[in-house]
Amino acid sequence: MLEGISTEEIIERGKNVVMNTYGRLAMTMVKGDGVWVWDSEEKRYLDFLTGLAVNSLGHSHPAIVHAVQEQATEILHTSNLYWIPNQVALAERLVKHSFADKVFFCNSGAEANESAIKLARKYAKKNFGAHKCEVVSFKNSFHGRTLATLTLTGQTKYQEGYDPLPVGFSYAALNDIEDLRSKVNENTAAVFIEPIQGEGGVIPAETAFLQAARVLCDQYGALLIFDEVQCGIGRTGKLFAYEWSGVAPDVMTLAKALGGGVPIGAMLAKDEVAQAFQPGDHASTFGGNPLATAAGCAVLDVILEEGFFAGVQERSLYFRKGLEKLAQKYQTGDPVRGQGFILGWPVSKLGPEIVEACRQNGLLINCVGGQTLRFLPPLIVEKPEMDKALEILDEVFQELW
Ligand code: PLP
Repeated sequence: MLEGISTEEIIERGKNVVMNTYGRLAMTMVKGDGVWVWDSEEKRYLDFLTGLAVNSLGHSHPAIVHAVQEQATEILHTSNLYWIPNQVALAERLVKHSFADKVFFCNSGAEANESAIKLARKYAKKNFGAHKCEVVSFKNSFHGRTLATLTLTGQTKYQEGYDPLPVGFSYAALNDIEDLRSKVNENTAAVFIEPIQGEGGVIPAETAFLQAARVLCDQYGALLIFDEVQCGIGRTGKLFAYEWSGVAPDVMTLAKALGGGVPIGAMLAKDEVAQAFQPGDHASTFGGNPLATAAGCAVLDVILEEGFFAGVQERSLYFRKGLEKLAQKYQTGDPVRGQGFILGWPVSKLGPEIVEACRQNGLLINCVGGQTLRFLPPLIVEKPEMDKALEILDEVFQELW
């Protein structure tokens, strides 16, 4: 491929041929092992961003490497014209450990949400009539970049330039029960919620709010859909974030960490809802292919091991306390938010500068919603590495704040 070529040359050549859709840093990551990644200059970083909540078991986890290697020697892809054993095995694991009865597989978070929008509209039309097609989501949310999912996303910056947008979408304020009440009615097919808004600034939906949303959806025959693309698969210290509230959705979307680095998405639903899809109604060439679902099974087998979530809860609390101490030391203002290993530290200023200084000091994090430092470390991170991350943050704040 492009071995033995300098990073500068790769970037120059990339600028010539790769579309300019990302604000990329001038570096390449060439190797990962556990919580560490290395760039092409052999500089080592603590990866507290995990490829945007993907590498939850760290880099090159032996169980994922083994599953992918084994599967690659057997068969990579077959299509959904045939039954795929690994797909069945992964669906069984997801169903066994969730509210859901059925799973549809795709390749990304946006596709999973697109599938959920389509399922909700089919279900509503079939059971209530054509008027019931509207979807309510939330200001500040993020659900993907396809035309329907960027319309579902409650942030105009992702929508500008793409009109006309699909119709039938409206946005309520998160954690504002009255506002949600004013938006949900007999035309509502679904209410879409991220149990913790990720890109919007690590903002958790309150339990009372989720309970009210559940009641409202039941009252109007609307589906409650949780987007757990970022906060699902163990990130909060339970398999699914909704478990903390005790409020189960009718439909849930997953992606990111589900494949541990191999692209996969999934949409889970109760059987009665899933029945709205019949053969030919929805499809994906790659969805749930043998390779991606082998990786998914390996990920779930590791995180469902006895004691795994207790470990995540205990270690994430340790890290959170460390962040809270620093927030107090530097008087940064609003409290640290989130659950488990999806944590946001609001800083009223200097977010991008802090992120860059951390990177220079060997810690990868990012800044979301303008002013919130976001931490998405691997779920396997241990105390010495968390201490190291906290030490780097302390040094950076000492210098910049
Ligand atoms: N939903 C949520 C909550 C997300 O955080 C993201 C991506 O950040 C998506 C959907 C879109 O996922 P993808 O980039 O895999 O399409």
